[in-house]
Amino acid sequence: MSGPLPQGATVGILGSGQLGRMMALAAAPMGYRTHIYAPEAGPAGRVASAETVAAWDDVEALRAFAAAVDVVTLEFENVPVDALEVLIHAGAEVRPGVRVLATCQDRVAEKTFLRDLGVPTAPFEAVHSAEQLAAAAARLGRCIVKTARAGYDGRGQAKLESPADADAAWTEIGAPAAAIVEGFVPFSAECSVLVARGADGETRCFEVVHNVHRDHILHTTTAPMTDPAVDTAVAEALATRIATELGLIGLLAVELFRVDGPTDLRVNELAPRPHNSGHWTIEGAATSQFAQAIRAAVGLPLGDPRRVVHRAEMTNLLADAIDVALPTWGEPDVYVHRYDKGAARPGRKMGHITRLWR
Ligand code: AMP
Repeated sequence: MSGPLPQGATVGILGSGQLGRMMALAAAPMGYRTHIYAPEAGPAGRVASAETVAAWDDVEALRAFAAAVDVVTLEFENVPVDALEVLIHAGAEVRPGVRVLATCQDRVAEKTFLRDLGVPTAPFEAVHSAEQLAAAAARLGRCIVKTARAGYDGRGQAKLESPADADAAWTEIGAPAAAIVEGFVPFSAECSVLVARGADGETRCFEVVHNVHRDHILHTTTAPMTDPAVDTAVAEALATRIATELGLIGLLAVELFRVDGPTDLRVNELAPRPHNSGHWTIEGAATSQFAQAIRAAVGLPLGDPRRVVHRAEMTNLLADAIDVALPTWGEPDVYVHRYDKGAARPGRKMGHITRLWR
C-alpha cells in the first residue's frame, strides 16, 4: 500500500467484540467503512458497514473477505496464524502481520522475545507437564503457571506456593500442551503503556496509566499515573523499542509491573491491538486509541496522543453493573459506554464508564 487509503475504503477487522465495535465507530468519522470477520455475530458487526460470520478455517470466506476490504487489522490477537496466511495469500495487506501475532499469541514466544531483547520480565520457564512444573516451581519459588495460548482475564492461570501445588495447578489450567511458569513478581502497582507505530515507522505513545484489577479482571484505569509514580520516559522507551523490534504496524499495549521504584518496570504481557486500559482516551486524549489504530492501519499520519484533561478514570462495567443508574447518564463529565452484548454473564465486560476531571 502506498500512501493512505482514500475515504470510502474499507478496513477489515478480525474479531467482533467491543474493541472492534469501538474501532468501527472511530473509523466512520474518518470516512472509512469497516467489515468485521468473526466466527460469531457480535457487537462490532452490529455497527460496522458489513459483517462476515464464518470460521477461522473457512478458506472461501476468508478469500471473499480479503477481496472485499482494502486492509485488514484485528481486535483479537488469538486469530489463528493460518487464517492470516490465507488472507495474505489472497492479496490482503494485514496490519499487524504474522510475526507480531505469532509472538503475542504464545506466552512462551512472547516472553522469550522480550528476554532476547533484554527487556525485564518475571523469571520464567516453559513447561509441558505437572512434573516439569514441580521442578520449575522448586527453582522459582512462589510462582504462577499460565497456559501458553488462549488465556485471558486470569483464565488458564493458577498460583503455586510450592512444588507440592504442581499437580493441582496443572489440572486447574486444563493440562495444556504447553504452559509458562513465572516467578511471582512482588509488584507495587500495575500499569500499561500503549504505543502506536505507523507504516513509516513513526511511533507515538499514550501516557502510562495506572491499572487496578479485581479477580484478575481490569477494574479501573487512571490517567495520569501519579501514586505510585512511574517514570513515563522509561515506560515509553520500553514500549517503543518492543513495537519497533516487532516491526508492528498498529497499536501495541504493554502491560507492566512497577516493582521497587518509578524506573523498575517489568513487562507482563503484550497485546497488539486496542486495549481495555486505553478506553479513557476516547474522551480524555486528543486522539482515541481506536482512531489511532485505524490511522496506523490505513496509513494516515498518527494522531496526537496527549491527554487533554486533568485526569480521567475508566471503570469497567461487568455483568449486571451495566444497568447504570440513569442519573449517572446525566452527570457532567461522565461518559457511559454500552457494548450491546446480550447476556450479562458474571465477569463479562458489558460496558465502561469514563469520568473526567478537567
Ligand atoms: P495476565 O493474564 O498475564 O495479564 O495476568 C493477570 C493478572 O495476574 C496480572 O494483571 C497480575 O495481577 C497477575 N499476575 C500475572 N503474572 C504475574 C506474576 N508473574 N507475578 C505476579 N502477579 C502476576
